[in-house]
Amino acid sequence: MSRENQFDVIIIGTGAGGGTLAYHLAPSGKRILILERGDYVPREKANWDPQVVNVDAHYNAKESWLDKDGKELHPHTNYYVGGNTKFYGAALFRLRKEDFGELRHHGGISPAWPISYDDLEPYYTQAENLYQVHGNRGEDPTEPPSNSQYPWPAISHEPRIQQLSDDFVRSGLKPFHVPVGVMLDEKNPHKSRCIRCNTCDGFACLVGAKSDAQVVCVDEAVKHSNVTLLTNSLVKRLDTDTTGREVRSVVVERNGSLETYSADIVVVSCGAINSAALLLRSANDKHPRGLANSSDIVGRHYMGHTNSVMMAISKCPNPTIFQKTLGVNDFYFGSKDFEYPMGHISFVGKLDAITLKAGAPAIAPNFTLELMAKHSLDFWLTSEDLPDPNNRVSIGRDGKIVLTYTPNNLEAHARLQAKLKEAMKQTNCAIHGHDCHQGLFGEGLFGRNFYVGQRIPLAGVAHQNGTIRFGDDPQTSALDSNCKAHDLDNLYVVDGSFFPSSAAVNPALTIIANALRVGDHLMKRLGASETEYEQNRVQDRELALAR
Ligand SMILES: Cc1cc2nc3c(=O)[nH]c(=O)nc-3n(C[C@H](O)[C@H](O)[C@H](O)COP(=O)(O)OP(=O)(O)OC[C@H]3O[C@@H](n4cnc5c(N)ncnc54)[C@H](O)[C@@H]3O)c2cc1C
Ligand code: SF4
Repeated sequence: MSRENQFDVIIIGTGAGGGTLAYHLAPSGKRILILERGDYVPREKANWDPQVVNVDAHYNAKESWLDKDGKELHPHTNYYVGGNTKFYGAALFRLRKEDFGELRHHGGISPAWPISYDDLEPYYTQAENLYQVHGNRGEDPTEPPSNSQYPWPAISHEPRIQQLSDDFVRSGLKPFHVPVGVMLDEKNPHKSRCIRCNTCDGFACLVGAKSDAQVVCVDEAVKHSNVTLLTNSLVKRLDTDTTGREVRSVVVERNGSLETYSADIVVVSCGAINSAALLLRSANDKHPRGLANSSDIVGRHYMGHTNSVMMAISKCPNPTIFQKTLGVNDFYFGSKDFEYPMGHISFVGKLDAITLKAGAPAIAPNFTLELMAKHSLDFWLTSEDLPDPNNRVSIGRDGKIVLTYTPNNLEAHARLQAKLKEAMKQTNCAIHGHDCHQGLFGEGLFGRNFYVGQRIPLAGVAHQNGTIRFGDDPQTSALDSNCKAHDLDNLYVVDGSFFPSSAAVNPALTIIANALRVGDHLMKRLGASETEYEQNRVQDRELALAR
């Protein structure tokens, strides 16, 4: 293999895991190759067009997978530089301290992680600084301990959300400001990169003001001459040496032909479903069940949360622009009448009539869809789904991804929905009193991404995790606690695959923090000079300040 195809590190995928790791390793001076199957999201007005984004699904991956019955499904996932963080809502939560231990749920056991919250805490702080998280420490009753404040103050509630927050407080709840990674400077609006618009959650940011992995990490990493990024480069297979202990070459489809690259360290970070698929497709004589899969764990324990969108319709309008500012975690670990964890309540971006119309949801009495969109509070509910070995990624006909999933722990979600209904009934507006709240609505689906009142279906793989779990026991996990494959000496995985349990808050900040943690381990392993690294980092900061 020619010298230019050999690297110290190859990172496959540029999302929350891969993009962050590339950023962290870039100042090491080591030769790093980043391979990304997608291109940059084109910057165009359509980025912020609900019809194009939510109805036409223009930016979604153009491929089909299969469900367990062999029926085609079109995954709601995105292949671009920055991965799914280009489209995420940037709600950047730490897992709760208790999520790292074993937790008993109504539907079974959520297993412990091989690392504790305290092991990850310093990296959560780094992650919040890097992704410029805006929040208020101390408001969320389930928040884990932290040694630092958020780097930016919380994004303020708009009046309708503030009114709801006050209502919730009056009824005894402890609503809080959701930690969000958008570059909004409310004190200096004229300088603020973020313009606080209504097309953030689910949309790519046209002005580069969302803290996504491309803007925050990959764009910075590629400024280093030792870092090479190849886009439109689909990794098809990993080949091992004759011992089977090392990945020897990475086979890439690029410009219509196959190319091979090699590195001392290979890091897979294609997202939990594609990473598992890549390892399974890389089966060989030494690894007949797929790479890193002597335990038969790879692809199993797929989790994606039980999520639903619920629209609360009020007589009072909701003119909120940026809605994703309020969260409620009072029921996260249970309540007096239900001793098991239920999950997390927050918001999706403000829904609009175009998105609603596409799916024709049930209409609230005396409302049109336009009126519903103008009067709705659009809640996002998340409950933990539990790892089940039969919920899995496998490879089916024509090499297609097969996603087999039977939902579990559903009582937790039903209880969470009931809790929200109860809380909404207690709201009491100054004009209409308790009558202001007309109910929680919508059966039926609308748009390709939103399903009101129902569980988000299988194709909604936004929170995918768990398919290549880490752990101390090679019989029950595929990765060790540094996210290195038990079966191979130079293969790591840093996307959402490593989660042994899914918890019930959004996953990205944990993926980012873990990538920083694994990055520190890799720096040591590569013998990277700390002095050179620090000098390069300082130079980076000076360059950034000069810009
Ligand atoms: C609409 C939406 C809203 C969301 N909102 C939130 C939120 O508010 N908060 C939150 O925490 N999370 C949110 N998420 C989830 C979050 O985006 C993901 O958890 C996170 O991006 C996962 O990071 P990852 O590194 O595991 O994978 P990804 O970010 O998916 O990155 C994987 C990358 O690998 C590339 N790739 C895949 N296969 C290959 C291959 N074979 N060869 C080369 N490259 C490959 C992909 O193109 C992609 O760039 C949201 C997701 C969506 C879709
Ligand atoms: S709210 Fe801010 S970060 Fe989000 S899309 Fe609009 S400008 Fe970008």
